[in-house]
Amino acid sequence: MELACLDLEGVLIPEIWIAFAEKTGIEALKATTRDIPDYDVLMQQRLRLLDEHGYGLAAIQDVISELDPLPGASEFLDWLRERFQVVILSDTFYEFAMPLMAKLGHPALLCHKLQVSDDGRIAHYLLRQRDPKRQAVRAFQLLNYRVIAAGDSYNDTTMLKQAEAGILFHAPQNVIEEFPEFPAVQTFDDLKIKFLELSERF
Ligand SMILES: [Mg+2]
Repeated sequence: MELACLDLEGVLIPEIWIAFAEKTGIEALKATTRDIPDYDVLMQQRLRLLDEHGYGLAAIQDVISELDPLPGASEFLDWLRERFQVVILSDTFYEFAMPLMAKLGHPALLCHKLQVSDDGRIAHYLLRQRDPKRQAVRAFQLLNYRVIAAGDSYNDTTMLKQAEAGILFHAPQNVIEEFPEFPAVQTFDDLKIKFLELSERF
């Protein structure tokens, strides 16, 4: 049995924080783990900025609902779901991803969760577990699934390593060079070909 695991941001949808920063003009929200490597420090800064600008969850979801999946992403996902069981593994939060997941036909998504207070303010966030993408792949393997995984960045590499086959998709050149063990493709057509090549069923 085979399962396809896909990263979400940068693969099927834009980077949510960056797109949100562009829509709202809050430049400081463009910071990523490349600027602030400690994820907790980064998230505390993001939540503080949302507070300062008066963005509660509803306003954020309004902005996110104006975003669209990347061109070709919906068609690719439909293609993949006809051929594999697909699970999306993401480091985003359900509350942020939902408006975009609706546009992708609500595929299965494992990610993190926000804690929202009664007045709609985002009070805190809950990470599902450490190294969550790799742990999910491990768990599927315990269920006797063979996993083909695709992602675009550093937070995907432990998942790609754990999987029976890993693919870099839309990855920046530094990631491609640092992880030459993974085939790297840039278009959905090439990603389809890779999935078929790496599958034992085709
Ligand atoms: Mg990504």
